[in-house]
Amino acid sequence: MQNLLDFEPAAMTAWFAEHGEKPFRARQVLRWIYKGGESDFDAMSDLAISLREKLKLIACIQSPKVMREETASDGTRKWLLDVGTGNAVETVFIPEEGRGTLCVSTQAGCALDCAFCSTGKQGFNRNLSTAEIIGQVWWANRELGKDADGNWPVTNVVLMGMGEPLLNFDNTVNALRLMLDDNAYGLSRRRVTVSTSGVVPAMDRLRDECPVALAISLHAPNDALRNVLVPINQKYPLQELMAACQRYLEKAPRDFVTFEYVMLAGVNDSVQHARELIELVRDVPCKFNLIPFNPFPQAPYQRSDMPTVLRFRDVLMQAGIVTTIRKVRGDDIAAACGQLAGQVQDKTKRTHRLMEVSQ
Ligand code: SF4
Repeated sequence: MQNLLDFEPAAMTAWFAEHGEKPFRARQVLRWIYKGGESDFDAMSDLAISLREKLKLIACIQSPKVMREETASDGTRKWLLDVGTGNAVETVFIPEEGRGTLCVSTQAGCALDCAFCSTGKQGFNRNLSTAEIIGQVWWANRELGKDADGNWPVTNVVLMGMGEPLLNFDNTVNALRLMLDDNAYGLSRRRVTVSTSGVVPAMDRLRDECPVALAISLHAPNDALRNVLVPINQKYPLQELMAACQRYLEKAPRDFVTFEYVMLAGVNDSVQHARELIELVRDVPCKFNLIPFNPFPQAPYQRSDMPTVLRFRDVLMQAGIVTTIRKVRGDDIAAACGQLAGQVQDKTKRTHRLMEVSQ
């Protein structure tokens, strides 16, 4: 059975051609799946009955199954999705005035082992397929339902869930194309954000193949600290990363990069760190998003207090850098990336090793 969620638009057209069908049939089916949220071929009323019968025999439309669902008091929804062989990934929907943002995962676990991250603690299991990535958007839209005007609730997508999207490049780009395609979700590229820890060569490829909005998990103003917090920095240090950000923006001069910066008490949150950052990003049109650290069991860090975060923000703002502080959402359901899946498994057993070291 071919899962049609695995096809980006051009691949869908090619598959239909292989089965003797015209390209417009692929577009019709895309529209049914993504604009209509339909999974039943019998309901696709503008397809010939013979084609519907054929599709029923050789194809399906299937997103990952939900293992667990939670709703926070602030309306944040979180789903834990079963992606087989004991692996689970998370999808989080954040409703806000006038928009709904879905935070999507791209890998089961993550190999990059950022020091403050609950997902990194679980180790890397595998890349998600295109169907498993776009299936998160498809499933969330269907589950939440259209509004009175017939619009889906997911208006923005951020690839900021579990995993490093640019290390699952092909499937990530396939899913991005479905988010942008007019026959699928038709989102503007500014409403779709890829967040990377800084896989420099893949940033260049993304710019060439599908230049959506870019966010960088920065978290440190110098190589010495970033080497510890975001170990991939040892491979692609900050000057290379900043140059890659500039190249990314070359073709879209009105765009900017969002730097994400998790505030860790006493680690990266001083005024001196903020000043170093201003110097670091001097040539990159950017804004900053300061993220209160979301502690998880055995986390080696603590959240910076609010006066420290505000002081840090003010230093950046005084240098002319737009800086926001991310609202803490879904605190009562462990909404930070990887926390729910982390309750299910810790594949690296790093928690145990850390405990052994500290005893
Ligand atoms: S912060 Fe992102 S890249 Fe780093 S370990 Fe976590 S999921 Fe992976």
